[in-house]
This record gives sequence, C-alpha cells and structure tokens, in this order.
Amino acid sequence: MVQRKARPISSGNPSQIAVGIFADASENPVEVLRVPVPEGFPPELVHHLADYLAQGYNAAGEDNSLADFDEFLPKYRRPEDPEAGREGRHGAKLREAHLSFGQIARQVCRYRNRPGHRCGKKCADRIRQNVKQHKRQEDLLRLQKDLEGQD
Ligand SMILES: [Zn+2]
Repeated sequence: MVQRKARPISSGNPSQIAVGIFADASENPVEVLRVPVPEGFPPELVHHLADYLAQGYNAAGEDNSLADFDEFLPKYRRPEDPEAGREGRHGAKLREAHLSFGQIARQVCRYRNRPGHRCGKKCADRIRQNVKQHKRQEDLLRLQKDLEGQD
C-alpha cells in the first residue's frame, strides 16, 4: 500500500489554505485539499493553520492522535507576563468602546499608580501590542474550538 503524506502547499489565493497529498517521494500531489481561511483569521498565522491541517491528515492515517494546536503556535501562546495579558484583555474591551490607546493606557497601564508615572506614547504602544496579542489569542482559541467541534 502506498503511504500518503500531506503537507501545506501554496494555494495561490490568500483566502484559501491548500494541503497537498503526496504519494511516496513524488513532487506532484495526487490530491489537493482546499479549505477557506476562517473570516478574520490573522493572515500571518495562515501557514500555521495549513501545517495543522496537514498534521491532522497525517495523524488520521496513523495510530497517533493530533498534536495540540498550541504546539504550532508557540509565538502566540498566552503571555508569560500576566500584566501583559491583563492589559491586553482590559484594553481590548475599552477599544471596543472606541477609546484611543492613549486614553486606554491611562486606565489599564501597569504603572499608572506609581508615583510620578505619566502614561505616554511608550505605555500606549505597549498596550496596543498587548491588545493585538490578546485578539490573536481569542481568534486562535475560537478556531481551536471550531476544530475540536468537528470531532
Ligand atoms: Zn503608563
């Protein structure tokens, strides 16, 4: 029996993920699986999703289970720094209320109660990053739930 292996290939379309199914060492896929990229999915993470789908295909053909989705996303794991997580979470909520990052910083900055500290551009920039990171994590968690829901 021919062993088939999946690996991500270029879909030529930014809103689509393509995974090629290869037989043995052939350079040409015997089959191509195409999956639409979920709406709102961060474009810079799409290749991780393709890896995950390929891994899932390969795992299904073997006697092992699908690896944890987190393993494919080491950069986007929950931050080690709990203050960064809190600033991101709280900041994202205030962002929904259309506050500027300068205004948000004055409410959520970790240093806001330090004597002599005044929130400036540095605080606003840090919080903007933390909010971005928080939103990515939310997206990934939602995606992970969707994928698990298909079992
Ligand atoms: Zn500050």
